[in-house]
Amino acid sequence: MTEADVCIIGGGLAGLSCAFELLNKGKSVVILESQKIAWGASGRNGGFVSPGFAGGQEIVEKRLGLDAAKQVFDLSLEGVEMVRNNISDLGLDGAHPSPGMLSVIRYNDPEGMKRYCDKMASRYGYQLDFLPQDQINTHFKTKRYYQGNLDKNAFHFHPLNYCLGLAKNIVSLGGHIFESSEAIRMELDGSTKVIHTTEGRVKAKDIVFCGGGYAGSAFDKVKQSFLPISTYVVVTEKLGHRVHELIKTKAAILDDRMASDYYRIVDNDRLLWGGRITTRTSEPKRLSQLLKRDMVDVYPELHDAKIEMAWSGLMAYARHKMPYIGEVKSGVWSCTAFGGHGMNTAPIGGRLISEVISCQSDRYKLFKAFDLQWNGGIVGPLAAQSVYWGMRAVDWWRESRSRSST
Ligand SMILES: Cc1cc2nc3c(=O)[nH]c(=O)nc-3n(C[C@H](O)[C@H](O)[C@H](O)COP(=O)(O)OP(=O)(O)OC[C@H]3O[C@@H](n4cnc5c(N)ncnc54)[C@H](O)[C@@H]3O)c2cc1C
Repeated sequence: MTEADVCIIGGGLAGLSCAFELLNKGKSVVILESQKIAWGASGRNGGFVSPGFAGGQEIVEKRLGLDAAKQVFDLSLEGVEMVRNNISDLGLDGAHPSPGMLSVIRYNDPEGMKRYCDKMASRYGYQLDFLPQDQINTHFKTKRYYQGNLDKNAFHFHPLNYCLGLAKNIVSLGGHIFESSEAIRMELDGSTKVIHTTEGRVKAKDIVFCGGGYAGSAFDKVKQSFLPISTYVVVTEKLGHRVHELIKTKAAILDDRMASDYYRIVDNDRLLWGGRITTRTSEPKRLSQLLKRDMVDVYPELHDAKIEMAWSGLMAYARHKMPYIGEVKSGVWSCTAFGGHGMNTAPIGGRLISEVISCQSDRYKLFKAFDLQWNGGIVGPLAAQSVYWGMRAVDWWRESRSRSST
């Protein structure tokens, strides 16, 4: 039997960030991870670190009003700074941060893109540089893109190395990490909670659930409140100078579709290309070909590029597309469902839970409006997949209209 002030379930970015913050506030911490540290989405993702949430600010504004939406946006920005500061303060060199994120649209709407940049500046005090089509054309050799914006404050990095570096620091601060230790049963009613794994037990006053899209059935109440959604990534062979002729920016790139392409140059001249989302959680057989088709659609010159690595990953999505950061019952906390935007939101989620456990703040209450909602059971994935197909149809229609008018 191991004892600690706090037991964290899940060793992804949410669990690690929460543990690191708690240790710095003087709490003792145990992390239980069913596989390996950052084995889930946190070690498999695209590595884009930018402010905001998976649901987008409109969802937040609608539910909370502008004033609270601003505070929530500022928290998402604090999440970006947490990662940036940890990389420099802890000397996490393997994280290789690189500045900039460039968002593009695949339909012609200069006014709409300008309006979006203006709105982010006037409502949220956040600067995005509008890029008209001629500037986009200097950055990319593709016919797919029209206008865009550059976020100079965002960055991209090696997420697995970041998590492994953070885990090392957790251990050196006295935190205990148990890998291959799935929490399979929990006694959560008393003032001391007991978490069971196949090998042992952990006793703690507070429990933080950070299981993400890989959560097993042990924590049903939270698990039934989100859907695991898959997305995919491939990495090409080394492409030499031709990748720099096609993409003349060091920023990470994404488009604004429901399931966007997101990609960046890694290892000097490889392309890391991510995209697609589906409620199907098993990996498709021809994953490499699927994503290569998307890549060649944007850059036909890459038709002969070899794909050297391919993988899928699961994200946890609530119906409202916002994270669950809050108290499930006395001493039982949820810090999960960060969707496709977790590199900043999981860290700030971890910090907010660490603050309330340490009686330092109740900032987590800003997320109260985004509480646990049933995921629709067996119908949930079907409904989500239908919404996705509907939105893809809208994306397709917008693009076709732009192409036929140019
Ligand atoms: C392919 C891909 C690309 C993405 N790209 C980006 C991006 O570029 N930028 C961005 O901001 N976000 C991105 N995301 C989303 C981001 O990766 C996630 O939101 C974030 O990593 C979630 O972190 P987490 O700690 O909540 O979950 P995870 O990293 O999935 O960690 C959860 C961990 O909990 C463990 N666990 C679950 N149940 C138990 C249990 N019962 N006992 C013990 N351990 C348990 C799991 O094994 C897992 O390791 C992407 C996601 C994927 C999959």
